[in-house]
Amino acid sequence: MFKTNKNYLNLKESYLFTDIAKKVAAYSAANPDKKLIKMGIGDVTQPLIPEVVEAMKKAAGEMGVKETFRGYGPEQGYGFLREKIAEYYLREMNVKLAPDEIFVSDGAKSDVGNFTDLLSNDNVIVVPDPVYPVYVDSNVMLGRKINYISGNEGNNFLPLPDDKTEGDVFYLCSPNNPTGATFNRDQLRAWVDFALKKNALILFDAAYEAFVQEDLPRSIYEIEGADRCAVEFCSFSKTAGFTGTRCGYTVVPKNLICDGMSLNKMWLRRQTTKFNGVSYVTQRGAEAVFSEQGLINVRKTIDLYRGNAKVMTDTVKKAGIWFTGGVNSPYVWIKCPHNMSSWEFFDYLLNNFQVVGTPGSGFGKNGEGYFRLTAFNTLENTIEAMSRLSKI
Ligand code: PLP
Repeated sequence: MFKTNKNYLNLKESYLFTDIAKKVAAYSAANPDKKLIKMGIGDVTQPLIPEVVEAMKKAAGEMGVKETFRGYGPEQGYGFLREKIAEYYLREMNVKLAPDEIFVSDGAKSDVGNFTDLLSNDNVIVVPDPVYPVYVDSNVMLGRKINYISGNEGNNFLPLPDDKTEGDVFYLCSPNNPTGATFNRDQLRAWVDFALKKNALILFDAAYEAFVQEDLPRSIYEIEGADRCAVEFCSFSKTAGFTGTRCGYTVVPKNLICDGMSLNKMWLRRQTTKFNGVSYVTQRGAEAVFSEQGLINVRKTIDLYRGNAKVMTDTVKKAGIWFTGGVNSPYVWIKCPHNMSSWEFFDYLLNNFQVVGTPGSGFGKNGEGYFRLTAFNTLENTIEAMSRLSKI
């Protein structure tokens, strides 16, 4: 008789987005004349830039001609894209990477989830609370012990290690989903120094790096020594609207060695065994993000979301509501006014202002009493939603 992985029984059902959808559908059915504004979505809304579309069309054309047709590509990504990513790190962040330290994938979610393959099951995993749920669930599936470090108002939702912090593998996400909070250099240095001292591994999720506009680190490798203790995950999803197109990359430095084993070699082995690469057409599209006009245009789109975030932070600031995020992130994390719980505030916003957001309690125990709003709607809708909200 075959046996299943019983660790799956330990996964908590995630009702968050289904519960939201149910409440929204019920409200819409009862109030068909009311215009709802959705600020809960973590998905982009602006289309791909023309440079990406043209590059993908051209690549699709090449695939239809015998002389330029391509079959399987390199599992770790085509050289043309990995070189562009390496140039981007050097130019934008002054971080030197070799192209073979960069692995192209179908997105950060797969890589964050799959990287756990490389780690022994007796590692103690540490995740911040509140958290992007993939870090937790991908480890629960393997039966690993998970410790939580507390994000709260006291530390601005940016927990730091101290003498009592214990664990082997630490997930960090900056700019953070769901809170939008972003580590500064000293804070990130504290994490890198801690990891080096404890021989711990940092799994750094930089999916929102392109939103950083202040003088804050966009890559963990901006911190000296991080190449000996950290892996970095990044994505074209939020940088260039690739949520439906699917492309991301993971950086595994060659200096990252544990027990004499190179994580770079292990990841290459893992990917060549279980993954057959991202489509040529998609990688040509991703390459076009780094063209001169491509970079100008993706920045325009990010500026548009940033403009929305500014409208949102201005409004909550004026209303005297505590918040973090929004400046270097498309997420604004607010404290529910009048001590409402996350779900009470959800119902209050929906019923009184027809604005939909995401209850913070869906991201962990510490999210209770907080609420996530996203900047991915249109400017008009954001302004409208905020003018409704200012009446709280
Ligand atoms: N990491 C974080 C923190 C995210 O919020 C998301 C998507 O919302 C991802 C990774 C997934 O990115 P991708 O679309 O590249 O799989």
